[in-house]
Amino acid sequence: MKKLLGLIILILLILYGYLYINKINEKEEKIKFLSIVEEQEANINNYYIYGNHFNIEGILGIDNVSTNNFSLVLKNNDEEIILDCNFEIKENKLFFYTSDLINKGINLDTLNQGNYYILIKYTTEEATKYYSLNNNTSDSNLEYYTITKNNKNNKIDIKFKKDKIDNKNINYLKLSIKKSKLPNDIYDIAIDPGHGGVDSGADQKYDGKTYYEKDITLEVALNLKKELEHLGYKVLLTREKDKDLDYYNEIGRATLPNKYHTKLCISIHLNSEDSKMNYGGVEVYTPNDIDYSLSRLLASKISEINGFSQKIHNKIEDGVYFNGFTEESIKKANEENKEKGLKTYDIKVGTPEMYMIREVGGRITNAYVDGRNDKYGLNPYYNSNQTAESYLIELGYMSYIDDLKKLIDNKIYSQKISEAIKEFYN
Ligand SMILES: [Zn+2]
Repeated sequence: MKKLLGLIILILLILYGYLYINKINEKEEKIKFLSIVEEQEANINNYYIYGNHFNIEGILGIDNVSTNNFSLVLKNNDEEIILDCNFEIKENKLFFYTSDLINKGINLDTLNQGNYYILIKYTTEEATKYYSLNNNTSDSNLEYYTITKNNKNNKIDIKFKKDKIDNKNINYLKLSIKKSKLPNDIYDIAIDPGHGGVDSGADQKYDGKTYYEKDITLEVALNLKKELEHLGYKVLLTREKDKDLDYYNEIGRATLPNKYHTKLCISIHLNSEDSKMNYGGVEVYTPNDIDYSLSRLLASKISEINGFSQKIHNKIEDGVYFNGFTEESIKKANEENKEKGLKTYDIKVGTPEMYMIREVGGRITNAYVDGRNDKYGLNPYYNSNQTAESYLIELGYMSYIDDLKKLIDNKIYSQKISEAIKEFYN
């Protein structure tokens, strides 16, 4: 008994010693980094996570410099990684931003475990200087869980901190990346089966039966969930059966993907045209200002089933579409609101018109406060700077018989979508 107690005490002492040394190391590392930074700081005026990418934008007030001398680095004791960053000089100030595309910038899923500082590095033949980053916004710290890979995840804490080193106050941005299981309320991917309940979406009679969009989108979504889970992803559905979905409340369609911190949201829909067209095919709708890699991949995989849509309106490239507000459509929307006695929207040109793309993206995709009806409530994430990357896929045309036949027996659609997602994340 005494021996056992002695052993336990010894183990506790070793553990304590280990933790103590770790703490000292971390403190020394912090002092080392923060003692090399200049007194002047760069101001961060915007930062956000869209999908699995982190972006920052800021200004450093500095004279007579060339953008060639600057880089943005991720730094710790062992390494200094140069991050993609754009630099511009305007009015004697250095402007920097990691990307002008909302789904590019720093890919959080590719970072290694460890503690890092993000610093602006200035190099000339005479000297190397580092500038730390100060949070000039009212937004708070971010927490990100990486997309599940081989049953593993990292947790990334993105924190603006303040410390006193050598009697100077230093503001800085720190990334702590460590291994972690996904908590119960965090998911990788959300799938939104379009319509539901009283809203049946499009319909089409065929062979004596009427098919409804809401049923087919649900079937595809349920199969897609299985396919993606088979690949190891944790998947959330906005509805698992035929039911009405509110838009803005706690279980609203645009709320759920962000409530559960998904990184990707795919909304499934079917097209239909009144006039009999002689074409079908896929249309993938994307947000504005993005890199089209994933939308292109989704469109090209699904096109293997029944080709790209021939629709020209809003087309960016084969199968990839963007539907955004124009000056004309904003004017029209607000005139209609006025006639009905409703609040007018504050909409910017280029804002996505499609609800699931605009609202799921929060302020990053210009989500707005909908003034149609006070009872609708408010999208709780409309002002969020951490949101899911959202796409809306029109799989095919119910009104086009070749498409409809394939949409009725639809397993191939979920297979193609999951192939695209797998390829993208690998
Ligand atoms: Zn639809």
